[in-house]
Amino acid sequence: MIHEPLATPPLTTSSARVLIADDDATMSSFCARALSVGGYTVVTVAEAEAAIAALREQGPFDLLLADIKMPGQSGLELARIAREIDPAIAVVIMTGHSTIDTLHASVRRGVADYLTKPFEITELRLAVEQALHKRSLLQESLRVRALEELLRSSEAINAILDRNQLAREIITHARAHAPGEAGFLFIAGSDYLPPQVFAEPPGAAIQPAGREAVAQSIRAGRPLPIAGAEPLALVQATALTYGLAVPLRARGETVGVLLLCSPRDEFNVPGASEFLALLANQAGNALRNAQLYSQLDAAYNSLRELDRLKSEFIAIASHELRSPLSIVLGYARMVYDRSTGDQREYAQRLLTGAERIKDIVNDLLRLRDFDRKQMALNLERSALDALARQAVERLIPGAQQKGQDLGATQPDQPVILDLDREKVLLVIGNLIENAIKFTPPGGHIHVEVVCWPHERLAAEIARAVANPTMRRLADAVPANWALVRVRDTGIGIPREQQGRIFERFYQVASSLTREQGGTGLGLAIVSDLAALQGGVVWVESEEGRGSVFSFALPLT
Ligand code: ADP
Repeated sequence: MIHEPLATPPLTTSSARVLIADDDATMSSFCARALSVGGYTVVTVAEAEAAIAALREQGPFDLLLADIKMPGQSGLELARIAREIDPAIAVVIMTGHSTIDTLHASVRRGVADYLTKPFEITELRLAVEQALHKRSLLQESLRVRALEELLRSSEAINAILDRNQLAREIITHARAHAPGEAGFLFIAGSDYLPPQVFAEPPGAAIQPAGREAVAQSIRAGRPLPIAGAEPLALVQATALTYGLAVPLRARGETVGVLLLCSPRDEFNVPGASEFLALLANQAGNALRNAQLYSQLDAAYNSLRELDRLKSEFIAIASHELRSPLSIVLGYARMVYDRSTGDQREYAQRLLTGAERIKDIVNDLLRLRDFDRKQMALNLERSALDALARQAVERLIPGAQQKGQDLGATQPDQPVILDLDREKVLLVIGNLIENAIKFTPPGGHIHVEVVCWPHERLAAEIARAVANPTMRRLADAVPANWALVRVRDTGIGIPREQQGRIFERFYQVASSLTREQGGTGLGLAIVSDLAALQGGVVWVESEEGRGSVFSFALPLT
């Protein structure tokens, strides 16, 4: 019989559920009434069998109030079974003076509190409240213990990014703090990764009923206790028919299911389900992170492989183009030397085209040498300003052809340092050629050589847009730098692309720059050549107004 709490007068605000088991109808209804008035929801039964059925079917109850003497099982036996069904239930046994000795051992073991008949309403309420209070303290301490264990476990599992290792760790932690002879972890698949099942101990074999339990818990979206007729799993010859399936969720998605299996019904251990629910949260997020990391790793590896294939192709293609190209160039030059009139002009065009291909092949070969770390440095003490002048003089005819004014300012004294002349000439030449290419007719290009202390260089770079080349600067901190700065009044570079123009094959996507042709390799080589000598290259630019490219070498 169910006794809803009576509305008046509420002596306590408790809303706990109490099961009263007593074959004495007068006593039972006295207690029921006293507790209902106190705000409790009460269910009464007259014998132990009915109490067990109520615990199983109408539970959970917060407290069992049982008479020690009942037909069939005694109140103590009922208390033991109640604890098996719900380890967290509080128990108060009603006893007469004659049976109090029987009770002592149970009271000492903390199985139950007791109440000696006859008792007053206030004594009854006090005993019930105390038992419930003890129970909530017990639950709280179990919760704290579970949280402490969880903290240790989550620290351990959150540090793992390898999916396989993480899966094994999750099962190990779950089994260390919750019952079960075997543990399984089912991980959902994703675009890059197949679904996986992990078992602990390794010989444990999942059975169809176990898979069905996992599917059920995913559908339910919450932990499901399972008492199957069929075995959920087998460990050697032992059939495990009881289990607890806990879905692991992250950001609203089920990323896996933890299934613990046992031959006994033992998943109601206090604190265990709490621990598992919290662990499931942590494990879900850790799994998701590991999954994202594995996906990133897989994507990164395939990109790296693609990059390797591209570099290999470039290396082979440029190497193989070299011999036929020398033949074309050799014969074109011969024809040019020996021909006149129209034929000589055709040969000239052939030569220009072949020279252009040679430049591209040489750029590709340089990249290959960088990748293979085969680029050797040939340092000589040289004047940087003289090299800059040499590059400017070589390129003045090209600038004049475009109606541009190309000039240079010299420093007061020569800037002498150890450098690789050929590579430095290549860098300066490349920067001036770009300036000519991206400056309209009538524009100005100016080259200057200056010396700066490190602080000024660092400040200027910080002012300019960040790019990967500049970050390398952090390693080298010489006191002074020698710089070649190439300033133009050309088309400029949009700010958001300034960091990318130093990447291989990158070109600013605009019709104006595309008109100029090119491979997008020049600045990548410039930046690699600068870095090889401990130097740095960066750009300051404004669209429509022009650019300044700076090439700095440490002044030794
Ligand atoms: P390429 O000149 O062969 O295209 P680079 O690596 O030398 O390759 O240059 C990459 C891109 O940077 C160019 O395509 C262009 O868009 C931009 N760029 C380089 N120098 C300048 C400059 N002085 N003015 C404007 N844009 C430039």
